[in-house]
Amino acid sequence: MTTDERALPLDLDPSAIARLGRHAVDFLADWVRELDSAPASDYEQAERLTTALRRPPGDGPGDFGALLELFREAAGQGVDTAGPGYLAYFPAGGLVTAALAELLAETVNRFTGVAQTAPALVAMEHGVLTWFCDRFGLPPGAGGLVTTGGSVGTLSALLAARQSLADGTAAASHALGDGTIYVTEHTHYCVAKAARIAGLPAERIRIVPATADLRMDVPSAATMIAADRAAGLRPFLLVGTAGTTSSGTVDPLAELGELARREGLWFHVDAAYGGGFQLTERGRARLSGMETADSIVLDPHKSLFLPYGTGLLLVRDPHVLHAAHAADGRYLQDLSPTGDLPDFGHLGVELTREFRGLRLWLPLHLHGVQAFERELDEKLDLTADLHRRLAQDARFEVPWQPDLTVVLFRLRGTDERNRRFLAEINATRRVYLSSTTIDGRFFLRLCVLNFRTHADRLEEALGIIRTAASREVR
Ligand SMILES: *Cc1c(COP(=O)(O)O)cnc(C)c1O
Repeated sequence: MTTDERALPLDLDPSAIARLGRHAVDFLADWVRELDSAPASDYEQAERLTTALRRPPGDGPGDFGALLELFREAAGQGVDTAGPGYLAYFPAGGLVTAALAELLAETVNRFTGVAQTAPALVAMEHGVLTWFCDRFGLPPGAGGLVTTGGSVGTLSALLAARQSLADGTAAASHALGDGTIYVTEHTHYCVAKAARIAGLPAERIRIVPATADLRMDVPSAATMIAADRAAGLRPFLLVGTAGTTSSGTVDPLAELGELARREGLWFHVDAAYGGGFQLTERGRARLSGMETADSIVLDPHKSLFLPYGTGLLLVRDPHVLHAAHAADGRYLQDLSPTGDLPDFGHLGVELTREFRGLRLWLPLHLHGVQAFERELDEKLDLTADLHRRLAQDARFEVPWQPDLTVVLFRLRGTDERNRRFLAEINATRRVYLSSTTIDGRFFLRLCVLNFRTHADRLEEALGIIRTAASREVR
């Protein structure tokens, strides 16, 4: 190697880009090839590696191959959230084509925070957004934003809901302290977190009782809204969940939408997990009523298999979103609105952002929509089958029929026994499950959502579960 090659300038020449790029892409292909046989969880080297990984960077250039090896080792530690054995939380896998889109988007590095600097790229992203709005049954004129995930989208939805409340009165700031929000105990905590960030007092969040099948009880919600209004408060936001995090349960969305409309509340649907299923016929039937929402959050990094860091916020009226977020600065005086294209920087929390739309646009156009439908349909079938077989085994309690792809089950007996049962299952390192607590009781939680998980791994999972159960139940 000559000295020139060793000093790696920041402005890589095309041949260096090709050389490093090939090396990196070869690495990815190898990595994906190994996923099937890789352990579902592995902590053996974690401690040893932390020392090596905390070393500060050198003044001179490093060796790309050696650095990649270090990354390979580090990435192999912990839970393999991209592998087929990952059945915990919400496994998506992470489409490689979306990762390639990321590489492309970040290399051209055009600025898509406003439309003027990259009108055609913004049009690509806007096209994806309006396509989703259409698939969710929102009316023409609906729009939204590609965010980093459900939490950020929920914050913006809450700000829009607050804005809509403020618009109706002169006293915008006064409105907030009096505002009340309606959720259930099964609602994701990102709603409470968003409320806290927005300055809404915690005691303004109303926990509406859930029915025995874990759905928001609509008559109770109506009663609570009426009582709050009678007490001089200002109910402004009703949150329905399309696939709760613990159990994947879908709230009665149509009835909630109707209640919100009748009472003049903003209806937000948290479809962070369930939203992707809207692409399937069964999903659309189970999520019916979502089209009445004022805002919808969904996480393509869950039920559309994208890499982490991709969320969607869809809103019926983007003007409200704009009013809730738009700001101005003299340093932006050269920029003006471009036709009917959105300025994404005025619709959410971020101004500067990567061209996030390509991550969705490329996989959708390249694989085609049916490829996603087929995967999701397969996951629905696999879940129904697994649920049926667990429910047939008298050793297990399987109280809830899955709405989507989450199955909750437990061994008859104590929570302690079930904690041990989960640990035994995960110790096989072929699958990785998580748990949750419903009505004060511990449940194992299995979610089928990774596009790399198919019947063979679930068959293996069922075998592992049965074997661990026989050890516990003697
Ligand atoms: C995951 C999840 C969220 C939070 O989304 P992030 O993308 O993790 O920020 C919100 N709501 C529900 C129902 C979820 O499952």
